[in-house]
This record gives sequence, C-alpha cells and structure tokens, in this order.
Amino acid sequence: MIDDINQLIKKNKAWAEEITSGDPSFFDQLSLDQRPQFLWIGCSDSRVPPNQITGSLPGEIFTHQNVGNLVQLNDVNCMSAIKFALEELEVTNIVLCGHYGCGAIKAIIDNSAEGLLKKWLEPIAHLYQKNKAEFADLSVDLAYKRLAELNVIAQVNSLCRSNAVLDRWANNKTLKIYALIYDVGSGLLKDLGVNISSKADLFEFQRSAYL
Ligand code: ZN
Repeated sequence: MIDDINQLIKKNKAWAEEITSGDPSFFDQLSLDQRPQFLWIGCSDSRVPPNQITGSLPGEIFTHQNVGNLVQLNDVNCMSAIKFALEELEVTNIVLCGHYGCGAIKAIIDNSAEGLLKKWLEPIAHLYQKNKAEFADLSVDLAYKRLAELNVIAQVNSLCRSNAVLDRWANNKTLKIYALIYDVGSGLLKDLGVNISSKADLFEFQRSAYL
C-alpha cells in the first residue's frame, strides 16, 4: 500500500521504465496527441481505476469520475468533460460505470450522508425514493446492488439528454453508450445490456427503463 509521497514517485518511475523497456517510443508518441475511443464516466472509488480494470494504457480512455458516478446537466465539470470528449477528441463510445460496494449508494440507503455530500447525492436519494417499493423485499446487500444498477441506468438517461450527446446523433455521427457495473469483489465488469446509438434507441431505452 502506498502511503508516502516518495514511494508514490518512486513507483511512478519504475512504471514508466517498465513501459519504455517494452516500447521505447511509447511516451514520445503519446506526447504528440491523444486519440481515445472511449469516454469513461465512473465513480471516484479507489478500487475502480478505469485503465487498470480494463487492462488499457494511457491514451486509450478519457475519464470523468465523481462520487457516485453522477451525470447532472447543471454540473459544469461533467458537461465540459463530455463536450470535450465528443467534440474535440471525437470519442465514439461512452461507458457509464457504477460499481457494487459503492459508498455513495450505501450512504443513501443507510441515510448517513451529511452536508455537501448529502447535497451532491440528492439525485440518488430521489431515485431511491421513487423506486422504494422495489426494495421492500430485498436484503440490505441486494438493495445496495440494485440501487447501484438503477443509478447507472438513471445516469445513462441523464447523459443522453446532454446537448453534446444529442448533437452528435443529430449530426449522424457514431456514438454508442453503454451501462456497466463493476464488481469490486471479483474484478469483473457486468454489462447491464444498454446499447444506445441513436435517438430512436434512446426512446426505446426510456420506455423500458426504470427512470
Ligand atoms: Zn462508488
């Protein structure tokens, strides 16, 4: 476990040396440009690092992370990341990834969030209230999992209402949106079966999803 800044810098040096020993021009090439094909929107949780869990390298995934993997249309940070990814980098895939064991989800079900965090997590609290009947018969562990899944679906819906996404489809440019859940207990990603690549797909998704 890294718990010291000198250790962190030392580990970075070792990592960079390992990469260049396999491909001496790796960083030179990467310094010229980035051409990722994926935007990853996920939770800040330290156990869900997008590059590591997908075995991908720097340059392959453009990321936006926050507590609870939320996409809110009034969040300038998130909207800017989406706009930049779509309009400047022209990524063709967006992954919305939630995860089991998410502290944000637990805080809502346990009603333990306070202050700013409570404010930030309001969209998840609303989602929980709206679907509460569905949770009545679930054990608390299953409830955490179910709300994590519902939250991903809700955030995909929000993502699809952003101007950058709608413009992309209006201009007939390729953009596919996926919903995944990462299981911190197994290291595996689960596909929630969402695959939206047009406005028509979005209407279909909105008709069938719990929103
Ligand atoms: Zn989380």
